[in-house]
Amino acid sequence: MKQIILDSIPFQPDRNQLLKKLHIQADSEDGAQLLEMIEHAEKIGKPKAMYTLSSINDKHEEFVVVDNVKLSSRVMRVNFADINRVFPYVVTCGRELYEWAAGLEDMLEQYWAEVIMEQALAAALRYFYSHLEKEYRLEKFKSMNPGSLEDWPISQQRELFQILGNVRELIGVELTESCLMLPMKSTSGILFQTQSNFENCQLCPREDCPNRRAEYHPHLYDEKYKAPVL
Ligand code: SF4
Repeated sequence: MKQIILDSIPFQPDRNQLLKKLHIQADSEDGAQLLEMIEHAEKIGKPKAMYTLSSINDKHEEFVVVDNVKLSSRVMRVNFADINRVFPYVVTCGRELYEWAAGLEDMLEQYWAEVIMEQALAAALRYFYSHLEKEYRLEKFKSMNPGSLEDWPISQQRELFQILGNVRELIGVELTESCLMLPMKSTSGILFQTQSNFENCQLCPREDCPNRRAEYHPHLYDEKYKAPVL
């Protein structure tokens, strides 16, 4: 298992996008305050990512074994049917921004800081994807994320972190008792090479989700993932 850390990810906040998202005019009093916060965040922000180049050791009907760790998911079993390596990962806005935001007392500033951290996380994700494309010449890859589907519950974050190793020491992301990540503006999962258009959202019935990336297919699980794997 090869462990790779990306800890020099550039973070240049998009000021116009942040002002627009927060409905703030740059030349207003709020605008001046927000721009000051953005400037500070730009100075201290260090978004990061880590991943492993992992082997699939075994495949069973209801689970797969990645780097000797058992991951229980039928959807994963089907998605990984034709591959033998995957990329477990954690990407984060970084502890530096998280601790700065935790020290803010004003609720409005806390909210602005959240939005700035979301932008840092998005920058880290873009960097991570482009790194993978270049390093491994991956043409098309998709992600499964613990907790996105009933089939792969949030409790499997523990197994994912077990594969990745000392995530807290390496990029500052820790798991809470309930398997949420701190900093909250972090994301985790397993990337895999595929020719399919898989998205967790295709199997997720949640209504009015602002982050939906694909239409829900109510019969897809029964049609594709329930049948025995040949
Ligand atoms: S619809 Fe929303 S909650 Fe469901 S998997 Fe997609 S992003 Fe996640």
